[in-house]
Amino acid sequence: MPELPEVETTRRGLEPHVAGRRIVKLTVHEPRLRWPVPHDLPAKLAGQRITGTGRRAKYLLITLESGTLLVHLGMSGTLRVLAADTPRMAHDHYDLLLESGRTLRFNDPRRFGSLHYTSEDPQLHPLLARLAPEPFDREFDAEYLWRITRRRRASIKQVLMNSRLVVGVGNIYASEALFAAGIDPRRPAGSVSRARYQRLAGEVKRILAWAIERGGTTLRDFLNPDGAPGYFFRELFVYGREGEPCKVCGSPIRQQVIGQRSTFWCPSCQK
Ligand SMILES: [Zn+2]
Repeated sequence: MPELPEVETTRRGLEPHVAGRRIVKLTVHEPRLRWPVPHDLPAKLAGQRITGTGRRAKYLLITLESGTLLVHLGMSGTLRVLAADTPRMAHDHYDLLLESGRTLRFNDPRRFGSLHYTSEDPQLHPLLARLAPEPFDREFDAEYLWRITRRRRASIKQVLMNSRLVVGVGNIYASEALFAAGIDPRRPAGSVSRARYQRLAGEVKRILAWAIERGGTTLRDFLNPDGAPGYFFRELFVYGREGEPCKVCGSPIRQQVIGQRSTFWCPSCQK
């Protein structure tokens, strides 16, 4: 599933191909995405110039002269920049044809992705307005983590992955950040000290930034916009490494399902 780093990687890959370009037309091949693509959307987009791109959580924002497109990749979506005459494949659901002769093509086998448009401030859109802070926001720091976890018995791993508290920390990154911060993922969130939250907040930001620089994880169904797979997976410290030696201390990495998600940690390095 594309996570925050994959979405940001996609945004950075698209930006030079779309910024300043005019939209010739939107062609919707399959409107039945997670929410139906409005039938009047092509008329609203035709002729508009794209002024830039942005991101809020896992929503990719494509800023136009008179509004903003909100693109979600869902569970399996990809957005690629292709020559307009590239033959369509199965699960190609829409094409945003640009005056450059290229098309922004959305492919999504599971159709959990979505496409919305707003002419208002996108941050006020119902899908974005009530999202929790994300790790790169200034308010995501030790104080914030400390405050939201008082009297919370849920594990720290579950808190990091609770999208009502913080958005964009996926399973891989939660496991890796907890390893880097030396915190046992099973530890009740309310028992983590302020000092350790200080370290954790920094590690979450650092690992997500690093993942973005590396082009995201190499989940098989994710490709960079230029088609190259990421090569991040083998550089992870704990995720997917059950039974293998910890890269720091040599202890076998453990795995356990916490909150229905596979969780990996080193029993020696993380307390
Ligand atoms: Zn270790």
